[in-house]
Amino acid sequence: MRYKKFDNLKSIRELVDFLPNATFVKDAESKFLLMNRACEAQFGMSFTELRGTDGSQFFPSEPIARYLAKDREVFRGRCQLDFEETFWNASLKQNRLGHIFKKPIYDDTGKPLYLICTTIDITERKQAEDELLAREERFQTLFDRASEGILIISPTGKLVAVNNAFAQMHGYTPEEMKDMDIGALDTPESRRLIPERVRRILAGESLTFNVENYRKDGSFFPMEVSSSMIIVNGEPLIQAFARDISDRKFAADEIHTLAFYDSLTHLPNRRLLQDRLQQALASSARNGHKGALLFIDLDNFKSLNDTHGHDSGDLLLQQVAQRLESCVREGDTVARFGGDEFVLVLEDLSKDFLEAAAQTEAIGQKIRTELNKPYQLTERKHHNSPSIGATLFNAHEQPLEELLKQADIAMYQAKQDGRNTLRFFDPLMQDKIDVRAALEGDLHLALEKQQFRLFYQIQVEGIEVDGSHRPLGAEALLRWVHPERGLVSPDQFIPLAEETGLILPIGQWVLETACDQLYAWQQDELTRDLVLAVNVSAKQFRQVDFVAQVNKALHRHIINPRLLKLELTESLLLDNMEHIVETMRILKDTGILFSLDDFGTGYSSLQYLKKLPFDQLKIDQSFVRGLMSDSSDKAIVRTIIAMAQNLNLNVIAEGVETEEQRQLLKNKGCAHYQGYLFGKPVPIEQFEALLKNN
Ligand code: C2E
Ligand code: MG
Ligand code: MG
Repeated sequence: MRYKKFDNLKSIRELVDFLPNATFVKDAESKFLLMNRACEAQFGMSFTELRGTDGSQFFPSEPIARYLAKDREVFRGRCQLDFEETFWNASLKQNRLGHIFKKPIYDDTGKPLYLICTTIDITERKQAEDELLAREERFQTLFDRASEGILIISPTGKLVAVNNAFAQMHGYTPEEMKDMDIGALDTPESRRLIPERVRRILAGESLTFNVENYRKDGSFFPMEVSSSMIIVNGEPLIQAFARDISDRKFAADEIHTLAFYDSLTHLPNRRLLQDRLQQALASSARNGHKGALLFIDLDNFKSLNDTHGHDSGDLLLQQVAQRLESCVREGDTVARFGGDEFVLVLEDLSKDFLEAAAQTEAIGQKIRTELNKPYQLTERKHHNSPSIGATLFNAHEQPLEELLKQADIAMYQAKQDGRNTLRFFDPLMQDKIDVRAALEGDLHLALEKQQFRLFYQIQVEGIEVDGSHRPLGAEALLRWVHPERGLVSPDQFIPLAEETGLILPIGQWVLETACDQLYAWQQDELTRDLVLAVNVSAKQFRQVDFVAQVNKALHRHIINPRLLKLELTESLLLDNMEHIVETMRILKDTGILFSLDDFGTGYSSLQYLKKLPFDQLKIDQSFVRGLMSDSSDKAIVRTIIAMAQNLNLNVIAEGVETEEQRQLLKNKGCAHYQGYLFGKPVPIEQFEALLKNN
């Protein structure tokens, strides 16, 4: 099939004009022969003007010279060129940039006849490219030089890119950090939180949080991180800004110190005190221990300030602060309340109010003694004293403000009572404390003044012979014959004696006196087989030389050890079991008997009963009392007796007051009794008279 020829000049002309790229044809002298519309637009001139010229008279010399040189190169080299070059647009009066293609057109002999050129104006594209490049460079510089750490993290937690600042913060180079796992930078505490944070950020949240990061050298520092998701090439990434906030934290600590501590004494201020007191109340509520608040006001502080100046006053306050701190335990709070007022919070005192009060009193007196010691104020010695108000607290029974008010009132009471003294807010508490203090004072003298007596309470066998019970022995019970108070019961002074340590000499006196009595009994047929029970308190038993003390007493009075029975209570057995077993065994080897007093009231456990060489269990009187009415007491008594029989222990019931009780106990298999039914604790003369009548 033949095609119609397409060689009609007009049609070719139209084709050329239709081409969007500027296109022209030149002869061997670089003269324009043909040019399309796009080319006219590109040069900003009409073909009519340019025809037959090489353009040099129209275009600025610099680009045209290069332009023409390229034409020659094409002709001479018979080559096709493709390059970027500027050209002049006469109507815009500006140089433009073109991507230019030039090639020769040859005749039949292969000689170049014409030059054909087509140009794409790339001025705008080039500008855009340059701009992009410049922008990228600017961003890179910004990234590199930013003082804030910048990092990009993959959704799996790998570092995709970090800037210098971030790397430097951690002691690495950015290259070293690439592909590192961010978890490896976090301290374990911070690491735990990563998965949840990543999840939230990828869900679209922007988070700002604090973390602690490790440096390359293993040290760590606090960092504030603001983090959000970005999408790059359709993939989610996490970008973050990180700031080392060590300084800020330091400043925050500093602010905290300023806000919560007194700048002169460095003690907690009123605000922190309230905080601590609140915590102390909560802790008391949790553990049941009582606490105390002491309000301390220095006596005559104003006159020191007035006569010797504020510097002296400041020095005194600083020294007072130090002394106060030395008087309390670690968990306690000493605060400066303002001026010359200090407040102490004592925690973890006894669960018993009176005992807690005694502890508070003791610390209060220690403080008073300390603050009464002379102060060295630059050139002078100075004397000062405090007035102290105290109040006790238990859980949240009273609000904080109320407690402070109470301690304050008590402090004023102390001032009114002549200063340099301590007063409790609760007048009843004050009375009790006063009684206790007086008692303690007297107790110190009681031994010396021979105010102690032993009373004897008979212990009998269950089986009746001729209507009476055979006496087995007695329990020695201590009495204090006080010149004013009369007979003081041991319940009132034994705990005090234990606290003050006076129980040691007192206990020794009891032991000596009991052995002396045993010796006397040995001389008489009627009494020679009687066993004497002596109560031994925990503190006494735990003394390292307890065994020696007992042996000495036995030898001095030349008595049969089998007639001495030591009564221990369960509380004694609670700690250092090995030592107790050891002590008991040594004493037991000499023949001494052991009875477990008040059995059932403590932590009765089969475990220690099996381990410890007791001879006897003493059923506590509370169970005996409940025998008639309380069925659980009945069950307990039955269990104790059964258990004792299994362990081959003798059982004695104490506090037997009625015939019914005795009958019930007998039915349950209890062999021995002690109680008012058989005899009250009495002085030795009465006891011996009782024996004779028996
Ligand atoms: P305890 O060893 O359990 O002594 C028994 C207590 O019960 C005695 O009280 C005694 O008088 C009392 N009692 C005896 N039978 C009856 C009764 O039928 N009815 C009633 N209601 N009470 C009865 P006391 O003498 O007041 O002694 C109290 C506690 O003081 C003793 O309890 C003992 O733990 C301690 N104690 C007494 N003397 C000494 C001692 O020399 N050294 C030590 N460390 N503690 C002693
Ligand atoms: Mg006893
Ligand atoms: Mg008892």
